Amino acid sequence: MKLDLLGDRQRTHLCGDLRESDAGKTVFLCGWVARRRDLGHLIFLDLRDHSGITQVVCNLDESPESHARGEEVRAEFVVGVAGKVVMRSEDTVNASLATGKIEVRARTLLLLNEAKTPPFPIDGDVRTSEETRLRYRYLDLRRSRMQHHIRLRHEAAGLVRRHMSEHRFVEVETPFLTRSTPEGARDYLVPSRVHRGHFYALPQSPQLFKQILMISGLDRYFQIVRCFRDEDLRADRQPEFTQVDVEMSFPQRGELFQIMEQLMRSLFALVNVEVQTPFKVMPYDEAMERYGSDKPHTGFGLAWKRVNLPAEEAAKLHLSLPVKAMTVPGGSSQFSRSQLDKLHESATAAGATWFSFLRIAAGEILSPLAKVLPPQALHAVADEAGANPGDLVVLLGMKAGGSSLLSARHLDEASGEIRLDVAKRLELIKPGMWNFLWVVDFPMFEFDEKENRFAAMHHPFTSPREEDLEILESNPGAAKARAYDLVLNGSEIGGGSIRIHRRDIQQRVFGVLGLTQEKARERFGFFLDALEYGTPPHGGIALGFDRIVALMAGESNIREVIAFPKTASAVDVMCDAPSTVETSQLEELGLIVSGEISEC
Ligand code: ASP
Repeated sequence: MKLDLLGDRQRTHLCGDLRESDAGKTVFLCGWVARRRDLGHLIFLDLRDHSGITQVVCNLDESPESHARGEEVRAEFVVGVAGKVVMRSEDTVNASLATGKIEVRARTLLLLNEAKTPPFPIDGDVRTSEETRLRYRYLDLRRSRMQHHIRLRHEAAGLVRRHMSEHRFVEVETPFLTRSTPEGARDYLVPSRVHRGHFYALPQSPQLFKQILMISGLDRYFQIVRCFRDEDLRADRQPEFTQVDVEMSFPQRGELFQIMEQLMRSLFALVNVEVQTPFKVMPYDEAMERYGSDKPHTGFGLAWKRVNLPAEEAAKLHLSLPVKAMTVPGGSSQFSRSQLDKLHESATAAGATWFSFLRIAAGEILSPLAKVLPPQALHAVADEAGANPGDLVVLLGMKAGGSSLLSARHLDEASGEIRLDVAKRLELIKPGMWNFLWVVDFPMFEFDEKENRFAAMHHPFTSPREEDLEILESNPGAAKARAYDLVLNGSEIGGGSIRIHRRDIQQRVFGVLGLTQEKARERFGFFLDALEYGTPPHGGIALGFDRIVALMAGESNIREVIAFPKTASAVDVMCDAPSTVETSQLEELGLIVSGEISEC
């Protein structure tokens, strides 16, 4: 096929621009052919670019040349059209197009490039496997939904920059080739050619750099930054993801919260969502008791309560106390016996070792527990759970034996899952809910069962609450951190803390974590040195930018708002990464691959 040259022709408008008021103008449009309809001596082309679609008419009588070119055109060919804007007749107006009242009569149609038939249609909401979409990402991104998402992301990034600058935060880039950072995931390593046997690590976050910038007197820092974590594969994780990383000196938590809340207001205003501020603040302990989650969706009513059963009966049931109870208003008639059996199965799968329920009727309570508990005990539980006639009370518990700390944790986790299960079944989670929440006062440490020692719940530079300094060593499990997470609709969208700024306290925290002086020096020596040169009190946060944009775009998967994401198994199927490399490259780096090379 003979192609035309563009020459010095300049687009006059985008394909979504033209309106009635442009009628009579001579224009030059460029774009892709979305659709072609051949009616014999009239050929209609839908010309598309990111801004929209304009109908182009090639009329055999008016312009035999453009009509001839129009016959050769196929979907996704790139064309340029010079012609006149004319009003469509009343009966051919297309109300679903912004340009639907006009069309362009082609005088010249340039075929600028041809295209193979795409593996999936570009227009319309077609179901195509994600693998195919990712392999042909350049075509997938040509679709209007993806164009919208990528542009929304761009606007969001611009807004973050303006907002943070207005609050006197300075954007500073930090290194990608660095050493291990303290977020606790596995590192991506980069071998050094110059220094054989030495490796850089890609940053899991700029945590230590941003703290060092506070020591340097930058006062307020932010960065929209890529982070790299070689975590076990999970459906909605990416090995590289983007954070809005923030740090400030002499902070009060409330001030930081306000800056972030205003940022959320402005971001969500981009998608016409009005965010109510200030956000609710909930201590971690309350979140775990009531919602069984450290990132609860509190936008619908269900909540758990720890309740006690009479000790004697609990012993008969071999139960560890307290158990948890959740009232489902009106639930008595909404759950059949078989649905309750399913809920029981889910509870078991979620780790709870005991499940029961009460159906509250007027004057009586129906429950499998009635075999063991006297009616007044059933009523006492129903009262404690705040249940009324017509309600269902779901009960979850753990069989006695084992560590009470662990069994309480497992019970909380299971209760969180069951709450969501019930909410889904009753369709309580409605679209259009924007439930923001700060969760605060996280435990400083969590007990690592495998390693049989305490580990940092956030990272080891998180400050304990001032009032908990005394119990740091004597009761580490009870010490709370000055850490906070920002939660939206049950997803964690950010997390941070006020940091430790004193060397002595840092040392004590390392002590509880079982990090010896030598180990700490080996891992973070440069940072410990920096801490000794006048470190101001400081704190910050990192927001998950991909997740926030996904929520703004109404998408549940962050891959939908990342231009070139990897699959759930960390593969870039478009450019086929990771890939094997030449043996000579490995030799240069002083590396050998042992064992078989696996397929991606
Ligand atoms: N560096 C932390 C993270 O990536 C956030 C923070 O503490 O600011 O989760």
